[in-house]
Amino acid sequence: MEPGPPSDRTQVKRHPERGAYDRDTIDAVLDEALICHVAYVVDGRPTIIPTIHARAGDTLYIHGSQASRTIRALRAGTAVCVEVTLLDGLVLARSTPKHSMNYRSVVIYGVAREVTDPKEKFQAQNAVVEHVVPGRLADARLPSDKELQETAILAISLDEASAKVRTGPPKDDEDDYGLPVWAGVLPLRTVPGEPDPDPRLPDGIEPPGYVTDYRRGSRNP
Ligand SMILES: Cc1cc2nc3c(=O)[nH]c(=O)nc-3n(C[C@H](O)[C@H](O)[C@H](O)COP(=O)(O)OP(=O)(O)OC[C@H]3O[C@@H](n4cnc5c(N)ncnc54)[C@H](O)[C@@H]3O)c2cc1C
Repeated sequence: MEPGPPSDRTQVKRHPERGAYDRDTIDAVLDEALICHVAYVVDGRPTIIPTIHARAGDTLYIHGSQASRTIRALRAGTAVCVEVTLLDGLVLARSTPKHSMNYRSVVIYGVAREVTDPKEKFQAQNAVVEHVVPGRLADARLPSDKELQETAILAISLDEASAKVRTGPPKDDEDDYGLPVWAGVLPLRTVPGEPDPDPRLPDGIEPPGYVTDYRRGSRNP
């Protein structure tokens, strides 16, 4: 997909060469990340809340209780900024100031739209589950009308978004390359542990393949 031009506020100014605005880059980060952080101003104070998201096409969905302060603030039309980060590695340089991290991150600006159409709401709710555990929708009970009513879903357009990506080894000062100090990248990955069955699980229900073979992202083992 061709990159769209960044807006005044999505133009990456610090290390602009790391900025990306094409939807392929942005979507890949949103789809791999399990959580996002939602920032907004409430009662004149900045607030940031971690939550689960899902992307469907040009829209990022978040869901929550109707009583959630975040949901109430966003449905009132408050400007919102959403951030997502994937941490790919620790970058150990020869000098302390040059230490860094390899990452892929996304920042989205917008105003949320409350999803009221029952079909879109149903699909968005299911998309959140499928985003976290692909394959789960085929097994788990789907939401009832009452459960859907108890849940609020907000949609945020991806029209104004930026990605920033750092890759590669440390960037040391030329004079430091001769120092007898180990330098390089320590990759970090999201790797699942052993599935831990619910104590109330009846005998004979084995963990499905999407649990035993769970992987997060193309870079993870
Ligand atoms: C895991 C991680 C660790 C980091 N550690 C540091 C650190 O220690 N020190 C440091 O200075 N910076 C760090 N950064 C980079 C940081 O996110 C900012 O990009 C940087 O600090 C510049 O901030 P700024 O406000 O000057 O950005 P500007 O370049 O002025 O931001 C302008 C616009 O660029 C976009 N943008 C900026 N940063 C990002 C981003 N990370 N992802 C997506 N879009 C972005 C946004 O749309 C923003 O509105 C880190 C990033 C990550 C993901």
